[in-house]
Amino acid sequence: MSSLAAILNNPIEYLKGVGPQRGDLLRKEIGVFTFRDLLHYFPFRYVDKTKVEKVVQLHYQMDFVQLRGRIVRKEVIGDKRAKRLVATFRDETGEIPLVWFQGWQWMEKSLQLHTPYLVFGRLSMFNGYLQLSHPEMDLVSTEAGGGKQFLEPVYSTTEKLKARGLTGKAIGKLTSNLLEQLLPGEVPENIPASILQQYRLLPRHVAFFKIHKPMNEEEAKMAQRRLKFEELFIVQMRICRLKIRRHQLSHGYRFDNVGEYFNGFYNEHLPFPLTGAQKRVIKEIRQDTVTGRQMNRLLQGDVGSGKTMVALLSMLLAVDNGFQACLMAPTEILSQQHYKGLCELLAQMPLKVALLTGSIKGKARKAILEQVAGGEIQILIGTHALLENEVVFKNLGLAIVDEQHRFGVAQRALLWQKNNIPPHILVMTATPIPRTLAMTIYGDLDVSVIDEMPPGRKPITTVHRTEFQRPQVMDFIREEIKKGRQAYIVYPLIEDSEKLDYENLMKGYEEVKAFFPEPRYYISMVHGRQKADQRNTNMQRFVTGDTQIMVATTVIEVGVNVPNASVMVIESTERFGLSQLHQLRGRVGRGADQSFCILMTGNKVGQDSKQRIEVMVQTNNGFLISEKDMELRGPGDMEGTRQSGVLDFKLADIVQDKPILEAARACAEKILSDDPDLQLPDNQPLRNYLALLQGKSQWSKIS
Ligand code: ADP
Ligand code: MG
Repeated sequence: MSSLAAILNNPIEYLKGVGPQRGDLLRKEIGVFTFRDLLHYFPFRYVDKTKVEKVVQLHYQMDFVQLRGRIVRKEVIGDKRAKRLVATFRDETGEIPLVWFQGWQWMEKSLQLHTPYLVFGRLSMFNGYLQLSHPEMDLVSTEAGGGKQFLEPVYSTTEKLKARGLTGKAIGKLTSNLLEQLLPGEVPENIPASILQQYRLLPRHVAFFKIHKPMNEEEAKMAQRRLKFEELFIVQMRICRLKIRRHQLSHGYRFDNVGEYFNGFYNEHLPFPLTGAQKRVIKEIRQDTVTGRQMNRLLQGDVGSGKTMVALLSMLLAVDNGFQACLMAPTEILSQQHYKGLCELLAQMPLKVALLTGSIKGKARKAILEQVAGGEIQILIGTHALLENEVVFKNLGLAIVDEQHRFGVAQRALLWQKNNIPPHILVMTATPIPRTLAMTIYGDLDVSVIDEMPPGRKPITTVHRTEFQRPQVMDFIREEIKKGRQAYIVYPLIEDSEKLDYENLMKGYEEVKAFFPEPRYYISMVHGRQKADQRNTNMQRFVTGDTQIMVATTVIEVGVNVPNASVMVIESTERFGLSQLHQLRGRVGRGADQSFCILMTGNKVGQDSKQRIEVMVQTNNGFLISEKDMELRGPGDMEGTRQSGVLDFKLADIVQDKPILEAARACAEKILSDDPDLQLPDNQPLRNYLALLQGKSQWSKIS
């Protein structure tokens, strides 16, 4: 077995047709070090050589075409610097030029006139005429013979490789050499037989053969499907095992009691019935916290879905069991809002709640720190000031992080270190990420979702307006203000062009002021260049209703709650991503009245922006929007995924291959729940394969 498998470990230069110099290039250029790497160097598409077109039927929308005919003329044209060879190719229906810009000397010599060729290449237009440039030319023995009867794989290559004769075709030839000498046993199976059967997957060695040398499209698809499944399945197996291991190793406090704090609040002071989704999540949290293991849960819920109430009830659960709890928010304003909101809700409860932020100093700070250390303060709310060393809890049992994308993984880890036994962690985010992505990058966290809005919300009406319509937009704002409402006008902020953004904002501010000369209308301006207390004051004036219009950069994006605001105007919408637009829109629609989101753009809008705007106009559903965002931008560009490296798949694409990913995840979970240590005979190949991978990458880094 080991000697058989070893062939794939051979250095690439030992393969027939490679040698030391080409070996060097293959390593440097495309990362192919071993036979195994070459086997995994997949074609990026196939060309169908089973079809032969007629010249008369060609049209510009065709891509690659194959023709059969003869060359009737060839001539070199153009001046010294831009010479090219033009060969006139004819079949029984018409003529088309074949053109070479490079290597034309050699082609001119070698092309034979009046001899049957099979020609394959990409159609292009030049001066309004169709032509083929740099086509592949194959001499065919009889004119009646068909095209080649299989799909030809196309491999990507580089200029340097080409210079050494390693064209895409030549790489294909090397792969053929490898496949010829490979025995089935040398490509051992790594998916249990029952799963192969259930999902009708090709055996591993067959799949590798067919992905490089399919006879037809169907075979290529089958091979890809099998290998995509494998890729996703192996990743999911590793993530799930990591999670199991963490569960086995981690100790956590037990919250066995549901006592007077939780029940007292729930029965007497709950201001509204919980939604089904809120109830479900609280149940999940309760289940997590009685296992004796540390909870690590991500709670996703759209803006306004009611995450705060879930946080509050969870904290009461901690207090019921004699523990302290803390709630950490990314900004001073947000923590103040949380503090104020929770104090109101808890006014009738015998509980000590405190706020700790950077601006609480001196004696007041000292007093809070002492009471946290002494355990008198049961619930502590604050910014990342909570993470500082001087903050020592008596017995922190639960730490909640709101709006998690503002906190790094490292900061979260600090919370763990607050005790010997780490507190339970609940991370809440209003930036929904698609489930498939969550499965992969947060795969070892447990995920809860609030997918239901509190009743009675009116969906926000979203419209697109251009610069031409600005006066009407301003009139609309005036109407809303007359009804007693408030409005946001938000400008983009991009780090690279901070100066420009600042100027934009100022210009906007002056413009808005000019539109609202009435002395009774006031405008708050908030941006990143202001000092924290100035920003705070301005924000506070809007919160209390002293100002009617808030002109701001995206600093207001996170969490600010002004239920009376009914209009959100987003300037230069083109410059925002979908998720960010959705976040901004979530600032309105928090009261009972109809709210509006107005997406402003220039008069001309690019295709990309158009698509995003359409999505925004059509739906208020954050999950749909995040799915769409991922589709438009690709998973690699989603927030927080870039560095994680877990998305470097060779074949799979978690957007397009979502059904495969879901199946692979389900399989991984099932296998591990039936056979956690992979002891069953059916799971041996998988176990061996995973053992081989062990230590090959830094997987523990995934958050
Ligand atoms: P988010 O998930 O964005 O943090 P919040 O917790 O701030 O949302 O809740 C948004 C608003 O909805 C708050 O005013 C809150 O009081 C209200 N709310 C939360 N849950 C419910 C519910 N079950 N029924 C009615 N209103 C609710
Ligand atoms: Mg919130």
